[in-house]
Amino acid sequence: MYVFDDDSLATFDSLVHKLNLVSLLGEVKPAVVMFGATFTGKALAPRVATALEAGLTSNCTAVELQKDGSLLQVRPAFTGNFLAHVKIRTVPAMVSVRYRALEAREKDESRKGDVIKKEVHKVESGVKVLGKGAAKAASIAGADVVVCAGRGLKKAEDFALVEQLASALGGVVGATRPLVDDGWISKDHQVGFSGAIVKPKLYIGVGVSGSPQHLAGIRDSGTIVAINSDPSVALFRIADYAVVGDLYEIVPQMIDLLKK
Ligand SMILES: Cc1cc2nc3c(=O)[nH]c(=O)nc-3n(C[C@H](O)[C@H](O)[C@H](O)COP(=O)(O)OP(=O)(O)OC[C@H]3O[C@@H](n4cnc5c(N)ncnc54)[C@H](O)[C@@H]3O)c2cc1C
Repeated sequence: MYVFDDDSLATFDSLVHKLNLVSLLGEVKPAVVMFGATFTGKALAPRVATALEAGLTSNCTAVELQKDGSLLQVRPAFTGNFLAHVKIRTVPAMVSVRYRALEAREKDESRKGDVIKKEVHKVESGVKVLGKGAAKAASIAGADVVVCAGRGLKKAEDFALVEQLASALGGVVGATRPLVDDGWISKDHQVGFSGAIVKPKLYIGVGVSGSPQHLAGIRDSGTIVAINSDPSVALFRIADYAVVGDLYEIVPQMIDLLKK
């Protein structure tokens, strides 16, 4: 394992991080380079790929090592309606992988390896930190319970109902894109193809129809519960529990029961 451990890297600076990574990859020559499809990973991966003239598949939802040693990358295409299977011819093959797309392996204490500390190249990139925002209390992508509101809500104030249900279950609130576009809730709550891919143990869709773009973000959830007045919606087709009815009647009853 190679480690860069230096105070100068404490604040993310894409140019400084790129420079150090490109020089290490040039020396080590790995077959595959993987980044998390996070804010920093997405800023870094294309810069490193360009410097190395390597192919990069971004935002993968799965990666699979093939028998011939090549890496198969899977990522949503055409707004999540298709899954593209990609192979990169260049070496290294570079990918960025969406949060929670891959399961962490069990810790294996028997495995041993060398930790090699690398010297950090210091460069003046001109980036200055003017201030820092507060960290989000709970990330929707990492939550075990997500209660997601859809356009079944009649007005922004009704989010209070969804928030109460989420808090009774110890979960976080999600939303479909139209509610985010209308400014009812911030973008970091958006679930789906162009929002967060969630993988909770329990997902509850409240007045959510289940568009392909939304389903692309919830497919790997453990138990899926859908509450909708229309029995023909797509979300019911993948739901483990389908509750047909008016959310304004059902959700308050659920909150009451959970409180008891
Ligand atoms: C490029 C692109 C990217 C996109 N990315 C995303 C994304 O990341 N995430 C996302 O969610 N969408 C995304 N969309 C939008 C997506 O196509 C759908 O428009 C959206 O998911 C629909 O949201 P909805 O289910 O809340 O609304 P609707 O489809 O309007 O569904 C509302 C549902 O509420 C039900 N309902 C109404 N009243 C009640 C009631 N009283 N009780 C119970 N049920 C009720 C209705 O029966 C209906 O099924 C994207 C679109 C594009 C083009």
